[in-house]
Amino acid sequence: MVSYETVKYFNAEPYEFNRYRGAVSDYQAAEYHVLFSLQLMNTCQNTVFMLGLLITCFICAFQIANGQRDVGQFVGLLTYMSQLQGPLNFFGTFYRSIQGAMINSERLLELFRAKPTVVDAPDVDELRSCNGGIEFDKVHFAYDSRKPALNGLSFECKPGTTTALVGESGGGKSTVFRLLFRFYNSTSGQIRVDGHPVESVSIDSLRRHIGVVPQDTVLFNETIMYNLKYANPGATDEDIYDACRAASIHDRILTFPDGYQTKVGERGLRLSGGEKQRVAIARTIIKNPRIILLDEATAALDTDTEEHIQGALATLSKGRTMLVIAHRLSTITTADQILVLQNGQVAEKGTHEQLLAMKGRYSSMWRKQIKAQRAAAEAQVLQDRAERLRSSSVVAGGGEDSSSQSDEDRHAETTARPRPTLSQRSTKASEAKPAGP
Ligand code: ADP
Repeated sequence: MVSYETVKYFNAEPYEFNRYRGAVSDYQAAEYHVLFSLQLMNTCQNTVFMLGLLITCFICAFQIANGQRDVGQFVGLLTYMSQLQGPLNFFGTFYRSIQGAMINSERLLELFRAKPTVVDAPDVDELRSCNGGIEFDKVHFAYDSRKPALNGLSFECKPGTTTALVGESGGGKSTVFRLLFRFYNSTSGQIRVDGHPVESVSIDSLRRHIGVVPQDTVLFNETIMYNLKYANPGATDEDIYDACRAASIHDRILTFPDGYQTKVGERGLRLSGGEKQRVAIARTIIKNPRIILLDEATAALDTDTEEHIQGALATLSKGRTMLVIAHRLSTITTADQILVLQNGQVAEKGTHEQLLAMKGRYSSMWRKQIKAQRAAAEAQVLQDRAERLRSSSVVAGGGEDSSSQSDEDRHAETTARPRPTLSQRSTKASEAKPAGP
């Protein structure tokens, strides 16, 4: 059901219908075999029992006729036999339920047999407090030994600073997050948090200090309140409202008919991308970690939503160490350091201005994105202009004079102001927003 949109996009209903019909036919065939064998077993069981009863009755009747036994013993025999029938039938059903339980326990044992690849060493300490310092020291890692993902990656993030990871797809940006969150262990090199190697502290205590805002937020099919409280079940409603205000989503939630009790649907599909991301930010504010890992959404959002999100992120990053995977460079121009990752290594490193002055990979990526943004803005202006001309021609009954057209053109030009960069919006928003909790 989750992929129903994909089915519709590709007109695949007949294909899915046939697949479902095939599955139902297979199920029916299997069910026929199961029911047939059960009926056969029941019939055999009843036949054996009836034969036994018949033979015993005959022997007993014969002995009564010979005067060896009296009629009361015959009645006693019949009572014993009927009492025996119940438990014997029970054995049939018992056998069936045992078989079902064996199949289920086999599946469960398979799950138990799967050993986690990352576990705490026996003598690990708790990471009780965290300032947010992160160091990667010549870290090597490979998902598949034939293709390394990180190749001696080294960098440092000072507490309270923002570090942006940029670079081509497959450069190792997400792997940095996965290793820091301890989904995997590095092959060699060391990852340190506040100077402690991550292997020397318990996974649970480390994760308590790290908040993750993923690219695509997945929510439980529950109310918004439930999803928000998931970060900290002990939080009060007032704490949740404060976090949502800081994430610029409180007023939006109040516009929903059921407010905070709105059900978000499977994986949160009833919320827009921008809303989901702000809920994720609010959730991270509620968790209140010292380190934030943010995987920026790739999809372009409308200016208002983008502004809200940048404002929420500015609040979130205050006083915390933030590692951001940035897809749009305009959002990270104010970052304390930008790392360009390539083939699992830092290819370039510095602030936005330093990297532009270097005229290397970052500056060429920046030029390309600016060019693409400008082209998109120009296309938008032309589209707006065409739409206005179309609507004015409809109003004028199909005709339009040259003066009205030049007015439109002028109007279109005034709307062709360049959109503010996200960093400008971010600064603007962070100025306007209250400090985080
Ligand atoms: P980025 O986030 O910069 O796009 P990743 O860190 O996801 O890059 O990937 C780095 C390299 O590791 C890529 O070559 C990718 O194909 C590989 N990779 C990523 N995830 C997996 C995985 N789960 N299994 C095997 N290889 C992976």
